[in-house]
Amino acid sequence: MPKIAVLPGDGIGPEVTDAAVAVLKRADEIFDLKLEFDYFDFGGAAIDAHGEPYPEATRRGVRAADATLLGAIGGPKWDGVPREIRAETGLLALRKDQGLFANLRPARVLEGLEDLSPLKPEIARGVDVLIVRELTGGIYFGEPRGMSEAEAWNTLRYSRPEVERVARVAFEAAAKRRNKLTSVEKANVLEVGEFWRRTVEEVAADWPQVELEHQYVDAMAMHLITHPADFDVVVTSNIFGDILSDLASVLPGSLGLLPSASLGEGTPLFEPVHGSAPDIAGRGLANPTAAILSAGMLATYALERPEVGTAIENAVAAALKRRRTPDLGGDASTAGFTEAVLESLAG
Ligand code: ATP
Repeated sequence: MPKIAVLPGDGIGPEVTDAAVAVLKRADEIFDLKLEFDYFDFGGAAIDAHGEPYPEATRRGVRAADATLLGAIGGPKWDGVPREIRAETGLLALRKDQGLFANLRPARVLEGLEDLSPLKPEIARGVDVLIVRELTGGIYFGEPRGMSEAEAWNTLRYSRPEVERVARVAFEAAAKRRNKLTSVEKANVLEVGEFWRRTVEEVAADWPQVELEHQYVDAMAMHLITHPADFDVVVTSNIFGDILSDLASVLPGSLGLLPSASLGEGTPLFEPVHGSAPDIAGRGLANPTAAILSAGMLATYALERPEVGTAIENAVAAALKRRRTPDLGGDASTAGFTEAVLESLAG
């Protein structure tokens, strides 16, 4: 019985999580997944109830689960609390606790929704790119780091195991998709880039079916705008992934459409890219698509049932042809759109 730890969180988190759980329950009926759901406080809701964003009971629940489904956390109500118990600090602690070193962010322009993209429809058509970002190493964490009156310094350093493990996640994802992987670095200027490229080449030997190419990050930024549909999976370091995943995230045209997964040693985490959107919370206005697609990624990457993930993606695409929430120019409520996805999933 796969156990799902559900952390609805704050703002629109509970609304979009309800939608994602409803879709997983319907998928369970169809595909016999035998899922078990356990709910835990997290983020601002946990600060209110327990005085900290990631209480022990939640930590234990996440550790015992096969996957974590998170809504969204934070909001103005908790902005004033001390940094150690900020809602966002809870998310960093969860990632660290579970050793989640790879962040997966797909950006897909669905058929018929090309008009939402800021790119010309003929360039946006068919975009389906997955950015795999190294999440726990690189220049954001490298030592030594510091600042004086006269200068400031940070360190970019990657070990072989750090590069190998994120490369493996990326090759595995590519093998579940269209068998193409683009590794992105700056090997023409940085030793770390050369090392990254060489290490990814070595890992490639285990994935002969996946076609591997290398790009410099500056060229890649241009390609993602001029011909984004040419890419399948992209793997890169923490800082380059931070920038490129944000760049790719604008391609589908709405924050409400973007799911994510964080994978690593412990329980994998699935969550929408968007935040808690306090401005629209509790009014049935939230687009649950990102949360539902995160549930789809949970099926693919945590349950190892890619056919279920694909069915959920297809149901969302079909529902979006009929009904849309206000952020996409429609008038469907969160529950109304979710109903359309459930109908499409049932076929
Ligand atoms: P955070 O800092 O927590 O990431 P943020 O303030 O940068 O949050 P979000 O909360 O992600 O940004 O959202 C910004 C705005 O986009 C929201 O105020 C809301 O109007 C809109 N938005 C975000 N997610 C959704 C959604 N799922 N459905 C509809 N609108 C959304």
